[in-house]
Amino acid sequence: MDARNTPEIIVQGIAASPGIAHGRVFRHIQSDLAPPSYQVRPEQRAGEQARFERALVTTRQQIQRIKTEVEKNLGADEARIFDAHLLVLEDQALIGETEREFETSSKNIETCFDKVARRYIQAFSEIDDEYLRERAGDIRDVAQRVLQNLLGRAEQTLNNFDGNRVVVANDISPSDTVGMDRNKVLAIVTDSGSRTSHAVIVARTLRVPAVVGVRDLTKRIVDGDQVLVDGYEGTVIINPPEQTLLRYGKIQVTRRNMEQRLLEASSQPSVTLDGAEVMLRANIERTDEMEQVRACSAKGVGLFRTEFLYMQGNRVPSEEEQYRVYKAAAEFFGNENESVTIRTLDLGGDKPMPGSQGLFPQEANPFLGMRAIRFCLEHEHMFKEQLRAILRASAHGRVLLMYPMISGPDELDRANELLAECRAELREKGVAFDEKMPVGSMIEIPSAAMVADILARRSDFFSIGTNDLIQYLLAIDRGNERIAHLYEPGHPAVLRMLRHVVEQAHKAKIKVSVCGEMAGDPRYVPLLLGLGADELSMAAPLIPAVKFLVRAMKMSDAKALATEALKQDKAAKVAALCNAFHNERMASPSAAGNSKIQ
Ligand code: PEP
Ligand code: MG
Repeated sequence: MDARNTPEIIVQGIAASPGIAHGRVFRHIQSDLAPPSYQVRPEQRAGEQARFERALVTTRQQIQRIKTEVEKNLGADEARIFDAHLLVLEDQALIGETEREFETSSKNIETCFDKVARRYIQAFSEIDDEYLRERAGDIRDVAQRVLQNLLGRAEQTLNNFDGNRVVVANDISPSDTVGMDRNKVLAIVTDSGSRTSHAVIVARTLRVPAVVGVRDLTKRIVDGDQVLVDGYEGTVIINPPEQTLLRYGKIQVTRRNMEQRLLEASSQPSVTLDGAEVMLRANIERTDEMEQVRACSAKGVGLFRTEFLYMQGNRVPSEEEQYRVYKAAAEFFGNENESVTIRTLDLGGDKPMPGSQGLFPQEANPFLGMRAIRFCLEHEHMFKEQLRAILRASAHGRVLLMYPMISGPDELDRANELLAECRAELREKGVAFDEKMPVGSMIEIPSAAMVADILARRSDFFSIGTNDLIQYLLAIDRGNERIAHLYEPGHPAVLRMLRHVVEQAHKAKIKVSVCGEMAGDPRYVPLLLGLGADELSMAAPLIPAVKFLVRAMKMSDAKALATEALKQDKAAKVAALCNAFHNERMASPSAAGNSKIQ
């Protein structure tokens, strides 16, 4: 489409990941692969069988192609998993049973295949043998591909396009972003979502500009349209004319210069003007982000979201694989004052493992369902593999472990019992681990916050997950763009809850970190510090701006801000106080003086 002949259209969404990008659109529509079920007439039977055979052949070709690519880019070891996938396609039992199911039920072939594959996945995932259990993941992955081909859907990846594109999607799952090629995706725009949905968190870490909640945009554009994405302001411009491109080009240069100067200044100590040290750590999803964390001068990792390991490979990684990854992180951040806080698996909610029908049955309310610690306590064998991997990694650096989505003492006690069993097993085998590895609880469910005193007696530290805490406290689905404006970190209920948690933790003499997105938002950083948070953890690219602010403020002022904010009756008044505090510090000459940025 020629941008000169078409009018410029400006649409507003939610600014989700900073940056400006311009390019052609790749339209990505996600839909679930629940196959339709219908009866097949006798005269259609031969055609149905031929369709099945064709889908198997196409799937084989796709897997071969991916295997070759992975071999080329990552090496033969990484590509071996696809040999297992090819074996699934040759599994005569799976194919034969599908054909038998087709004979007896006369249902369409995808319904028969889906039914048999689910039965297999369930059976394999319950076997008490690591090798065979891993095969459930292989079958799951291959089954998804076969279904995709039977249903005539394009391969669901964010890379199957030529050149560089702006991805415009109805929705993007965190697993989409895991497999995404950063070099090809210029920006992401979605119809749905909010600042704290997990796919957006990943985009921010990868420095991919993103705008979300642009309702129905996918219905207004077609593949190949030109768009400009402003991830700072949340604006998307369809068919931008030359003038607009020029204006945004200048904005981009100014922003980049500013970011570069903040990055250079970030090597300076994280200390307020009145001498209080503020510990800043990074949130990571993958170990290839560690260099970026170091470049931002973070003191290690405050939240390692391990579920991305599971989502990357669409399967449960073995204890050995996990150990290697956690050990690499522990060793990388081995300096004094550095540490790595590894969070146990938080699958579920908006992060199901792709293709894992057996493990994650359909739920009406996944965010209130089988997620995180609940899922782990239902799958103890899998959970214990992760616990042992983390314990073993603790022999190689300062590792802390924390459990997500703790709702009360029962879950925490059970998780700690399993951890004690793992310790005993390792001791018996003479395997080294840190006997004093700190074990903490995430506070991200209001019930946990209310019993913070009870949990504090059983925890070595707290880490407040504000993304979920706000979601559950205010009953605002963190991924729903229609109510995203009601998601208010400054709500008086949020402030009171944060104060309560910090007070209870400090009474029990344990530290409190905050690792939700609020911790990386410079407008709310002084409030969190003023409320008593001991540490903050955020996506690495956000650290330079937060550190700059820390160096431009006094802790005594932050405490006064928190006292004032707690007196307010409305979120808007709290937000106004926080904005004013932030803007004054960023404009003050002392900010520049302390950070030597000018
Ligand atoms: C949170 O809920 O704030 C958090 C840090 O965890 P996640 O975003 O991974 O749910
Ligand atoms: Mg959470």
